[in-house]
Amino acid sequence: MKKDKILSVKKALKYRLTKQHISLYGKIFLIDEDDKKDYTQVFITDNEDAVILKIFEKNLPYKKYDIIKAEGYFEFDDINGDYSFSVIAHKEYFNFEKKDSSIEKRVELHLHSKLSEQDSIVDIEELLKTLKYWGHTHVAITDHESVQNIPVFWNLSKRYDIKPVFGAELTVFEPFLNDFFHITVLVKNKSGLKNLYKIISKSHMNLNDRNPVINAQDIEKYREGMYIGSACTKNILMYFYLKQEEEMFLKKVKFFDYIEIQPLDAKEDDRVTKEKLKEFYLKITEAAENENIPVILTGNVHYIYEKDKEIHNALQKGTETLKKFNKIYNSKRYLKTTEEMIQSGIEIFGKRGKAKKIAVRNVKKLVDSIENISPLDNKLHAPKIKDENLKLRNLAYQKAKKIYGENLHPIIEDRIEKELNPIIQNGYAIIFLLAREMILKSKEDGYPVGSRGSVGSSLIAFILGISEVNPLPPHYYCKCGYVDFVDNLNICGFDLERKKCPKCGKDLKSDGHNIRFEIFMGFEGKKIPDIDINFSGEYQTKIHRYLEEKFGREHCFKAGTINTIAKRSALKFSEKYLKKEGHIAKIFYYAEKLNGVKMTTGQHTSAMIIIPQENEINDFTPYQYSANDKEKGILTTHFDYEALENDLLKIDALAHDAPTFLKKLKDLTGINYENLPMNDKDVLELFSSLKPLKINLDEIEVEIGTLGIPEVWTPFAHRMLSETKPKSFYDLARTSSLSHGTNIWFNNARELVLKKQVSVNQVVSCRDDILLTLEHYGIESKKAFNIMEKVRKGKKLTEEELNLLTSKKVPKWYIESLIKIKYLFPRSHAVAYMFMAYKIAFYKLYYRLEFYSVYFSVRAKIFDIDTIFNEELMMKKIEELSDISYKHDFEKFLTYSVLRTAYEMKKQGYYFLPPDIYKSHITDFVIEGKNLRIPLTKIPNIGIKGAENIFKEREKKFISIEDFKKRTKISKRIIEKLKTTGFFKNMPEKSQIPLF
Ligand SMILES: [Zn+2]
Ligand SMILES: [Zn+2]
Ligand SMILES: [Zn+2]
Repeated sequence: MKKDKILSVKKALKYRLTKQHISLYGKIFLIDEDDKKDYTQVFITDNEDAVILKIFEKNLPYKKYDIIKAEGYFEFDDINGDYSFSVIAHKEYFNFEKKDSSIEKRVELHLHSKLSEQDSIVDIEELLKTLKYWGHTHVAITDHESVQNIPVFWNLSKRYDIKPVFGAELTVFEPFLNDFFHITVLVKNKSGLKNLYKIISKSHMNLNDRNPVINAQDIEKYREGMYIGSACTKNILMYFYLKQEEEMFLKKVKFFDYIEIQPLDAKEDDRVTKEKLKEFYLKITEAAENENIPVILTGNVHYIYEKDKEIHNALQKGTETLKKFNKIYNSKRYLKTTEEMIQSGIEIFGKRGKAKKIAVRNVKKLVDSIENISPLDNKLHAPKIKDENLKLRNLAYQKAKKIYGENLHPIIEDRIEKELNPIIQNGYAIIFLLAREMILKSKEDGYPVGSRGSVGSSLIAFILGISEVNPLPPHYYCKCGYVDFVDNLNICGFDLERKKCPKCGKDLKSDGHNIRFEIFMGFEGKKIPDIDINFSGEYQTKIHRYLEEKFGREHCFKAGTINTIAKRSALKFSEKYLKKEGHIAKIFYYAEKLNGVKMTTGQHTSAMIIIPQENEINDFTPYQYSANDKEKGILTTHFDYEALENDLLKIDALAHDAPTFLKKLKDLTGINYENLPMNDKDVLELFSSLKPLKINLDEIEVEIGTLGIPEVWTPFAHRMLSETKPKSFYDLARTSSLSHGTNIWFNNARELVLKKQVSVNQVVSCRDDILLTLEHYGIESKKAFNIMEKVRKGKKLTEEELNLLTSKKVPKWYIESLIKIKYLFPRSHAVAYMFMAYKIAFYKLYYRLEFYSVYFSVRAKIFDIDTIFNEELMMKKIEELSDISYKHDFEKFLTYSVLRTAYEMKKQGYYFLPPDIYKSHITDFVIEGKNLRIPLTKIPNIGIKGAENIFKEREKKFISIEDFKKRTKISKRIIEKLKTTGFFKNMPEKSQIPLF
């Protein structure tokens, strides 16, 4: 073949077996850069088939949806099991076959995106990019019963400079006909948008088998600011047309602001032939024109290119078990160019002039009367408290002085001011006050909390009791007002040597983890503070209720999420559909198109969205039931919570085991977790050795004493700790952050440290390390901060940034380490977690049985009595479960951890006692002498209900098994089993006196 001819993907694939030198072009749909490979795989398509290009370079200048041209040849790739195209030369290519060459362009006003539940594969970005290339100015997205596209659509439309028209296609219930019909709505102005949100919310409260339905009278009520269109042939006009009810037909035409006609080849209505459909369209056109109602041609678009129909069918096939009514469509519902649409018009109206009027001019006129609207304004709308700024300021100083004395050290005062100013200027005081209130509430009810994330980088948060992490540099302090900052930065306040106060002679306290405020609210202090709090799992629901009561149910919603087809199931769908035809590249192409299609909605596990008192939720987003499940009745925001992040206050009240541990430990021991010394050498030693426990656990391969302690109970954490051997709290926090990032310790620092090239204190362990280290090498703070932000998110550093690092003599190993990092913890998070772990470890060392009692009560969701009492079986299971491949199987993983902890406990001379009708608690392992009594819920199959019944009924002695059965309502089958375990001891089978 001639070398200069450029082939499409499909044509090029014919040369697959030839090794011939050819040129091809296509659109990029996936770029796969693997650190372990010396080439980048670029997947390209012609919208029908696909090819994997193997380019022997990194950091290619292309992105998704770019079109490229490449020269090379096909070769079999053993790893993929498919042919891939080895590239010799490549460049961007600005010519793709489909164009819209009309001078006067049409506008598409009926289009479904991937957010039309399981119905469309239109990716919004690809759509906008295509339209930009075609020269279109506007486009509408009209998803089924949903406006979840709006935030994304709006953001991307700015990038591609296409005017977005917001709307939806709705299912309307007509009570007098007892039937459902489709309508389309387009938003004309801001009040129309709010009305649309109201309609969406209302329809989501009015579910018909999980499908939102709006009543016809509500459309009348809220139609201000919107255009109502007649949608597809599932409309009311077709209903009266088929019934030949002329009068009602004409009357209903007048209900609409515009009438939609769709190309005959887009027909999906089995009730009419194409001829009949054409007749229908001519009839409504005439009726509408008599009433001066504009008639427009719309595409009812479900995919962008005609050939995507196959993939759309794959979607229908893949989801068919989920939805009853899926069928494979023969209709063509792709995005048409202006000329294609005019041709569709000619098919209906015969004349080009008329077709053009309806396909282009009428549409344009309608669109021109639509205003530009911003659905969100990227400014926080938080509820207000009277004098909130003054309150925060006063509270901060009052509490600071309580800790550090009346005359605050300048370092402390400067830090307070540095934080207060941006917090107050940006209107964030409320966030701190509210978090404090929630925490006080929890503590009042006896449940401690723990902070997480970067909030521990704030001194205000510490002073207010929101976070337990003191971010100041390490320092001594005393009630008398003495404060002394220490210069050593490889240490934290807890690790400082004990000293007496030079002023008053009392024991000095010490604190400070040296964390910068920027980590929390950004370099400019503008980032909305994201205060994440761990509440006890037992208390989380109470805190959510508390917020609802405080703000009112109409102002407090669970944060909504959108569940879409994930990559893995998309691959399954396409494999299933393509069968033999599916070579790897094509399977990936189909999967990429299916990826992100909405399946259902859900809720964030812990976040609540708060609406200010002066607003209502429909000012920002519609609302709905999570997963449209009215039974469960959980109200969420309709928009994904991430879309609302800049506009509304999000409060994350998470559930965690550690606060539950501390509450229970305090209750059992009477020792308050708030007053524990943070520098107990033996407690610290538990994190690197078993010595403090005075046992040896070689037979279960355990070298350190952290089994059963939250955050450090996993085999992974054990491996880390055995390698880093922390000596101080500072080391401990570093190990924790080393273990939580991606490519930090393993695949990175570990080798350097094990080879003794550098010490564990020098390697990058958390975000803060980068900032401090780069500043130390003389890099300007702002630049160091930006580099840190990029590294922690796994983003690539620019050539310029890399040059800066080299020119400032940052060691080569350090730069290489930065490049490898994919995700990095903030130090505050690691400190907060180790703060809790240390406290729990303290109880483990000094109150062992109490610790095990709490561990098994809170954590042993799986507890097999037979194994626990049979040492041989226990060892066998531990051995079996040590297999690393169980790492992701939660059940196996939990069993492993429970069995190992049980073994460790027994080794110290503490044992379990079998469940007892009269002595066992419902859920907790109760201490009896040197033993733990197994609770009732751990009896196989008895369940919480059965356990509660026994607990309640046992106040009156059971006189027989028959009596037991009758009063506890426990099934005969379970009772028969219990008999074999000796649970009933010598309780008689039947009662002596007949019971009624
Ligand atoms: Zn429809
Ligand atoms: Zn539609
Ligand atoms: Zn003192």
